[in-house]
Amino acid sequence: MADIIQLLPDHVANQIAAGEVVQRPASVVKELLENAIDAGATQITLLIKDAGKTLIQVTDNGMGMSTTDARLSFERHATSKIKIAEDLFNLHTKGFRGEALASIAAIAHVELKTKTHDAEIGTKICVEGSKVIEQEPAVVPSGTTIAVKNLFYNIPARRNFLKSNPVETRHIIDEFHRVALAHPQVAFTMSHNGASVFNLPESNLRQRIVNIFGNKTNEKLVPVEEETDILKIEGFVIKPDYAKKSRGEQFFFVNDRFIKSAYLNHAIVSAFEGLLKGGFHPGYFLFLTVDPKTIDINIHPTKTEIKFDDEHSMYAMLRSTVKHSLGQFSIAPVLDFNR
Ligand code: ADP
Ligand code: MG
Repeated sequence: MADIIQLLPDHVANQIAAGEVVQRPASVVKELLENAIDAGATQITLLIKDAGKTLIQVTDNGMGMSTTDARLSFERHATSKIKIAEDLFNLHTKGFRGEALASIAAIAHVELKTKTHDAEIGTKICVEGSKVIEQEPAVVPSGTTIAVKNLFYNIPARRNFLKSNPVETRHIIDEFHRVALAHPQVAFTMSHNGASVFNLPESNLRQRIVNIFGNKTNEKLVPVEEETDILKIEGFVIKPDYAKKSRGEQFFFVNDRFIKSAYLNHAIVSAFEGLLKGGFHPGYFLFLTVDPKTIDINIHPTKTEIKFDDEHSMYAMLRSTVKHSLGQFSIAPVLDFNR
């Protein structure tokens, strides 16, 4: 029998990879915002149209790309963030796989404009379905603008599977919140169909939380702080009296990356034991900092799951730290019988 195995062409491989990385417009928002953070931006603008189905555009004032790099950024496994396997355990960037732009450009119309700070003239590149259809020098500001149009234009099944605009917008805002909370020192704006949704100036964490969730949030925050040899915990929990029936305001970050962990969420919930009525969920904005060598982020395509070398210690310390912080703030109201 003749040999039948062949290597898939790049555009097919990219489209397959895209299936994992890009589930919906919000996935593109996450990848583009994280690239802007990795580029050292201090000002990031997100612009969407029709819940991201028509346009998702991110502009940053970060380091920009040279013409060669701009072209390479759309290749799969092309990254400036790691060089050798060991780097995977010493990550200081959000990205490292070199997959996002290649994946996005396989399933959308992408326009990239970029310029490094020392270059006089920048570059504009248009890619559709992994094919570069235009590349030319361009007079643009330093930094990068990436516009992603008509997401899933060549995968009708995916496009039809997208939810209503309010639902997709909700997902985008969730991603925006996560990145904006993780980087309060960076200014962010977001607009939808030309209307401003968020305008977040450079600030600290407390101010960023208030700017996103409203002035009333300020008095609900209980600071959490602890540092040991192996980890640092900081941030805020919401006073138990203000707990909600939904899980809305639960934000847990490891090394400034939003992480979903049922196990560590349980540590926090159990710290609230006896303080919450049945069916109520605690709110929190907690940041864990650990040595990157002690975690593995490379276990899930969207990097929202993570493996700790020593999960049990994390659990125990998180629980006791939150319990301690709550203790300092919740004893007084409990003793106030006139309430
Ligand atoms: P990764 O972030 O995993 O490296 P991406 O596909 O997201 O992979 O990006 C590929 C490369 O393109 C990055 O490593 C970076 O060098 C460059 N890049 C992407 N976005 C930007 C940006 N906004 N500013 C500067 N460089 C960028
Ligand atoms: Mg990236």
